[in-house]
Amino acid sequence: MDLNNLKSLPIVLVGGGFGGLSTAIALRGKLDCTPIILIDPSPRFVFKPFLYELLSDELKSWEVAPKYSILASELGFIYLQETVIRVDQDNRKVITSSDLELEYSQLVVSTGLTTDYFGIKGLSEHACGF
Ligand SMILES: Cc1cc2nc3c(=O)[nH]c(=O)nc-3n(C[C@H](O)[C@H](O)[C@H](O)COP(=O)(O)OP(=O)(O)OC[C@H]3O[C@@H](n4cnc5c(N)ncnc54)[C@H](O)[C@@H]3O)c2cc1C
Repeated sequence: MDLNNLKSLPIVLVGGGFGGLSTAIALRGKLDCTPIILIDPSPRFVFKPFLYELLSDELKSWEVAPKYSILASELGFIYLQETVIRVDQDNRKVITSSDLELEYSQLVVSTGLTTDYFGIKGLSEHACGF
């Protein structure tokens, strides 16, 4: 996909977890020709609630962690394997770790979160974040 030949400024989704991928699915078919670009550094979406089934061999890895490239062609978005390091809100651009600058019409940031240990002493050392 040639990013210089897009018909209009894209909707850019940063992060392809539940938030980003659900947004891509929700927008599917609702836009005339506005391209959707999903950016995630990982090549695969991981359906985390199914990790147990992967370990117990009830599901296969392609079912639990499909490749974004395959999802993109099935769902009609453009996938970029990149890490966004900065958002230039004034010029409506995201900048990635490989110096790619991508203009957007709308931006969705869904990069997950970090665990809040609520200041409880010892928790971050002795507990597993979920
Ligand atoms: C084992 C397990 C089981 C779970 N079971 C359930 C359940 O049964 N029900 C439930 O509701 N929830 C469950 N959860 C929680 C659920 O998976 C999370 O709430 C959900 O994944 C959060 O989605 P998200 O899109 O906010 O973030 P994430 O899924 O964390 O996605 C964030 C994405 O952003 C990308 N990203 C981060 N930084 C950048 C950047 N700078 N540039 C580009 N991309 C970036 C990451 O690579 C990642 O793909 C479970 C979690 C785990 C670990």
